[in-house]
Amino acid sequence: MKPFTVRLSFHGDLNVFLRSKTGDAVIERRLTEKTSIKDIIESCGVPHPEVDLILIDEEPVSFDHTLANDTKAEVFPVESRGTVRTEKRLQTTLLLRFVADGHLGGLTRNLRLLGFDVAYDRNADDRQLLKVMARENRALLTRDRRLLMHAIVQHGYYPRSQNADEQTVEVVRRFNLSESIAPFTRCLRCNTSLEEAAKTEIIDKLEPLTRIYYNQFRRCPGCKQIYWSGSHFPRLQRRIAEIRAQCV
Ligand SMILES: [Zn+2]
Repeated sequence: MKPFTVRLSFHGDLNVFLRSKTGDAVIERRLTEKTSIKDIIESCGVPHPEVDLILIDEEPVSFDHTLANDTKAEVFPVESRGTVRTEKRLQTTLLLRFVADGHLGGLTRNLRLLGFDVAYDRNADDRQLLKVMARENRALLTRDRRLLMHAIVQHGYYPRSQNADEQTVEVVRRFNLSESIAPFTRCLRCNTSLEEAAKTEIIDKLEPLTRIYYNQFRRCPGCKQIYWSGSHFPRLQRRIAEIRAQCV
């Protein structure tokens, strides 16, 4: 087969994945056999769940589009939806269920604090993460680019920041979560939805001062943890307000 060249222009923040040190977002690949656009894009370091639109000759194509001749491709992330008008997107934006890898404990806690369903096991290996993702139809959150490139990953996101609060804002934006925020409705420890608990039912589990000063309680049906708006509450509320303010 005659060798051919594919010239890819990466848009928006996809340049965070490119190995190019020069900041150049254009990469050329010389190929000698038919290759899918998805494989070519991933060979440049960009995981497919980060790619929302691929244009070849100004026409949107799917990931399995195969190339065999000289081609120019434009590759767009979800964040650049405003710039190109088309219905043919490769990613779903509204997703409410997640699985986070073991390094994202802070992000997991924040998302649960906002009420979101995040499966998390600090010790889960890649195989277990992918299994939970596929079985429970969750979007995978990970800073392991290789893992995000796994063929079975449909929905996923690579948090750009290393800071949990910034990551939380990124995830809320990426998956359109701001309308669905419901603080203090989910157990921070085990991810179960909380229930209202009458004081009389749980009074024997409370410390003496808590018994006196608080009247509203929530309980986790999973791990039995009891929640109330104690001394930590204003701090958590502040954090939620800060995250919300940045998500607009
Ligand atoms: Zn719990």
